[in-house]
Amino acid sequence: MKKIVLSAVVLCSACMLQAQNINKIINTKDVTKIEKVLSADDMQGRRAFTPGIDKASSYIESEFKKIGLQTFNGAKDFKQEFSMTESKNVSLKVLIDGKAIDKADVVSFSYQPQLAMTEKSDVQVVKINAGDKFGPKFYEYYQSEKNLLVLVDASFKPRIANMRHIPQMTANPGGNSVVFVFGPTDATQFSIEGTNTITKNALNNVVGVLKGKSKPNEYVVFSGHYDHLGVGSPAEGVEHDATDSIYNGANDDAAGTTAVIMLAKYFKKLNNNERTILFTTFVAEEIGGYGAQYFSKQLNPDQVMAMFNLEMIGTESKWGKNSAYITGFEKSSMGEILQKNLQGSAFKFYPDPYPEQQLFYRSDNATLAKLGVPAHTISTSKMDSEPNYHKVSDEIETLDMVNMTQIIKAIAISSATIVNGKDTPSRVDSSALSRK
Ligand SMILES: [Zn+2]
Repeated sequence: MKKIVLSAVVLCSACMLQAQNINKIINTKDVTKIEKVLSADDMQGRRAFTPGIDKASSYIESEFKKIGLQTFNGAKDFKQEFSMTESKNVSLKVLIDGKAIDKADVVSFSYQPQLAMTEKSDVQVVKINAGDKFGPKFYEYYQSEKNLLVLVDASFKPRIANMRHIPQMTANPGGNSVVFVFGPTDATQFSIEGTNTITKNALNNVVGVLKGKSKPNEYVVFSGHYDHLGVGSPAEGVEHDATDSIYNGANDDAAGTTAVIMLAKYFKKLNNNERTILFTTFVAEEIGGYGAQYFSKQLNPDQVMAMFNLEMIGTESKWGKNSAYITGFEKSSMGEILQKNLQGSAFKFYPDPYPEQQLFYRSDNATLAKLGVPAHTISTSKMDSEPNYHKVSDEIETLDMVNMTQIIKAIAISSATIVNGKDTPSRVDSSALSRK
């Protein structure tokens, strides 16, 4: 009996502590302080491969250190570094069954200084036929990390212009080549020769760990991306400052990054997480999600019980204050668990009201969801009308810091039963995703 009484008292005082602490730990003053640093002009829009991104990384690292997080897998610091390969095509000659193909009908993604493909080399010939869904096929081949010659039906030629805007960049150190050729439907004999200028540059995620008490091998991820668009030419029609050229990305996604830091503070103070929590801020979301892709290969996705990806939570949602939405709500039971945990509170989480925008697939959660992880993005952004989205006017003055603080608290409260191991969301059916 005594033991039970004691544990009841301990349990209850823990609850009280939790209730008292949350308002104290997650407060508007601290949230504003962090948000201000991350979205300041001196971060120069936090674009990948610029001094601004390094500055932002250093700041997040210093916050993780102050909080007292551990590094991931015994790493020497919080930086999860990887090399990005960038390629600039210098020359390209394509010959298929004796016929020279016009350069205008070829798009190559090659990460080899000397590209040389023939029917005798280690290359697969695949096709995108007339009537196929171009987008999914394109991404399958583009992301395959294999050497491919892709024969694309001539009806898709209007896609070429868009494909030329895709950065010739990869986090795959292997250096493969995927060459899309528009027109020919067969290639029995072929020769593709090219030269590329290859440069390698380091990028890094920032990952901090709070080890779980009883389930250290089960992970819960809180993430946001700390990169943004950088500095551009002054955008037209920016009313409050026509000379501004810095994409501050206060909402996108300094807000999510701020939330990750605040949640780290909170859970470290509580110090009772049964599962291991990975606080992760991703790099290079805006240029292709490379940070999340690298992160997903550094762990076993089966060990990730849930991923809370936080994107643009600084403005009021379409339902007003104290509310947010969850993308891909129906793809796992995570949303229901979060809703259940918020019952009786002033907060409400809704399913994503903009399904036609495919938001589930447009942020870093998608990379882990494709591996079966219940990985969802929580956001408040009004994607049909958000006035400052991807504009230089996405600045801290446009955010509601009090409401954002409430959202962060709602995330902390709603995640409690997942963090303490009582609830485990169902897995995402990744085979259904890849069919999309
Ligand atoms: Zn974003």
